[in-house]
Amino acid sequence: MPITGKTKVCVLFGYPVAHSASPPMQNAAFAALGLDWVYIPWAVRPEAFPRAITALRGIENFGGANVTIPHKEAALQASDELSPDALSIGAVNTLVRRGDILVGHNTDGEGFLTSLREDAGEEPRGKRVGLVGTGGGAKAIAHALAGAGAAELTILARSQDRARSLVDHLRELFGNIDMLALGLQDLKPDRLRRFDILINATPVGMQPSDPSLFDYAMLPKHVLVCDLIYRPSETRLLASARSRGCRILNGFSMLLYQGVRAFELWTDRKAPVSIMRQALAQTEKGT
Ligand code: NAP
Repeated sequence: MPITGKTKVCVLFGYPVAHSASPPMQNAAFAALGLDWVYIPWAVRPEAFPRAITALRGIENFGGANVTIPHKEAALQASDELSPDALSIGAVNTLVRRGDILVGHNTDGEGFLTSLREDAGEEPRGKRVGLVGTGGGAKAIAHALAGAGAAELTILARSQDRARSLVDHLRELFGNIDMLALGLQDLKPDRLRRFDILINATPVGMQPSDPSLFDYAMLPKHVLVCDLIYRPSETRLLASARSRGCRILNGFSMLLYQGVRAFELWTDRKAPVSIMRQALAQTEKGT
C-alpha cells in the first residue's frame, strides 16, 4: 500500500533497533488486513527519548508504538496513563494513543503466557516455576504467571538480593502463591526436581561463548525448559535440555504474541497471527 498523508504510523523506540524482527511482522499484519498503516523502527538515544515521546503527542497520524531496550522504564514515566500490568511491572513496551493521551501497556507477560499455552501446550495454573533473572522480561513473566495461578514461583538470580526484592514486590500483589528467592549458585538437583517449568529470562546464551547459568546436566527430564532468547533459536540451555529429554520452548513465539497483542491494542482488529508468524520466521531464515 502506498504511503500517503492518511497513513497511520507506528514506531519502535529502541537503541539499537537495526536487528529488530518487529517491523516485518507488523507491516505484514497491516498489509494482510488492508490497513493503511506502517511500522518504522526508530533508533533513539536514551537522552533523546523524553523529547521524542513529547513530540509524538502532536503528530495526528501517529498510530502507536513499541518500546524496547533501553527505554521501557522511561516509557513508563512518559505515559499519561498506565494499564494495571504496566503499572505493577514497572515497564512499558507498548504505547497506545487515545486522543492526545498516551496509554502505556506491557504485553510481554501476556505474550509469554500465550506462547506457553499455544506453542508448548502448557497451562501455568497450579504449576511450580523456576524463573532465572530479575530484569524487565523476568518481571513481566513473573506477574503474568502469578496472575495466571501458578502454584509456586522461585526467582533465581546471580544476586539473591535482587531476587528477594522482586519476590517482596510480587508478594504484595499475589499473597496466595508460594514464592522463594534463590541465588543461582544455590540451585541444586532437588530444587530443580520441584519445578514443572524453568525459564531463562537473562541474555545468557545469546553468545556461543556465554558460560552456563548452572550445571545443565542436573536438568530432570520432566521439566519444560523455556528460554526468552530467540537468536540463536536453540541456546546451550535448550540444547542441553533437549538432549536430556526435556520439552523446550524458545523466545520466538513470545516475540510473536507480544506483537499480536500490541497490534490489537493499536488497531482494535484481530491480528492475523499466522501471517505474523510467517513474517517472523522469514526474518529468522535471513539471519
Ligand atoms: P534486562 O532487563 O537487562 O535484565 C537482564 C537480567 O539478566 C537481569 O536480571 C540480569 O541480572 C540477568 N543477567 C545478565 N547477565 C547475567 C549473567 N551472566 N548471569 C546471570 N544473570 C545475568 O533484560 P530483559 O529485557 O529482561 O531481557 C532478558 C533476555 O530476554 C534478553 O535476552 C532479551 O532479548 C530476552 N527477551 C525476549 C523477549 C521475547 O519476546 N522473546 C522479550 C523480552 C526479553 P543482574 O541484575 O544481576 O545484572
